[in-house]
Amino acid sequence: MKNTTTEPGRYESMPRLPNPPTAPTILIVRYGADNLGYILHGPADGACVVIDPGDANAFLKVLSAHRLHPGLLLATHGHADHVAGADDIAGRTGCPPIPPTVDDPTEHEIAWREFRLRVLPVPGHTRTHVAYLVDKALFTGDTLFVAGCGRLFECDAATLWHSLLRLCDLPDETLVYPGHDYTLDNLTFAAELTPDDAAVATRLALAREGDALVPSILGEERHTNPFLRCADPVFRRQAGMPHLSAEACFAELRRRKDDW
Ligand SMILES: [Zn+2]
Repeated sequence: MKNTTTEPGRYESMPRLPNPPTAPTILIVRYGADNLGYILHGPADGACVVIDPGDANAFLKVLSAHRLHPGLLLATHGHADHVAGADDIAGRTGCPPIPPTVDDPTEHEIAWREFRLRVLPVPGHTRTHVAYLVDKALFTGDTLFVAGCGRLFECDAATLWHSLLRLCDLPDETLVYPGHDYTLDNLTFAAELTPDDAAVATRLALAREGDALVPSILGEERHTNPFLRCADPVFRRQAGMPHLSAEACFAELRRRKDDW
């Protein structure tokens, strides 16, 4: 498999395009059993960007309620629950269709009107999965969830682990907007793994009250998301895997969560 994006390390520091915009307003669109999609809009004329339009009706309802007109449809990856509504939205609003999935995505920036989206390749859940960074907001699709991570469909555990490591290089205050609300399940799993962890217990209590914790804060994910903690020997000891490497610990955790 040709893949140049799985080496650990920081995302390239790219020169930003001129006229950096103010942060857009982000609307969360819930659809299906637990999917989360997003609409980004500025203060001006109703132009907006749509990310992961998996359900046309759910998105069209929000667009209409806020008098928004999509001009850019994007997906984090090609799974139907993230793109199924795109053609319908394009047909009914005149918005260009979702761009085809790029086979070997590279880091780049999309500029449309006042929006600047940095595209970060994060293979693992799928080979061509990308995340979008807009100001401090990170749209992670099925790569990083609140207290969890995506399943491995097209890549091995090491590939996803290195993608997550690279996302962890982003600043602590980065806001994580995932593609699904699996928060309660993920934190229940995390609490079973490290029952004495007070920070995990606190977040689980919030999730039990019905809080999806979206957006999540990357700094907090680093300390409470078991899949991001595999490089920490203290965590590995607490989780009963002191003898495993970080990568092997991650693979084992992913396996356990699949069977959980
Ligand atoms: Zn998916």
